[in-house]
Amino acid sequence: MAYPFDHRRDRPISTAVPSDLEPCEWRCQECEKLLGVRHGARLHIRFQRHCYIVSLPVEAVCRGCGTPNRT
Ligand SMILES: [Zn+2]
Repeated sequence: MAYPFDHRRDRPISTAVPSDLEPCEWRCQECEKLLGVRHGARLHIRFQRHCYIVSLPVEAVCRGCGTPNRT
């Protein structure tokens, strides 16, 4: 029995990434310490062995100098 549709074609194409979603480093405005990496409207934060993916806007206190940052 044949299916009328090929469901494999319905998968989203994840390999096509628009240029405005290129990773962009988010750094402390005071000491330039790396706080996270921005991917479009999301921010990837690595801290020790944890990895967080959060939505913007984001506020973070720099662990190097204590300056509050917002993006
Ligand atoms: Zn800092």
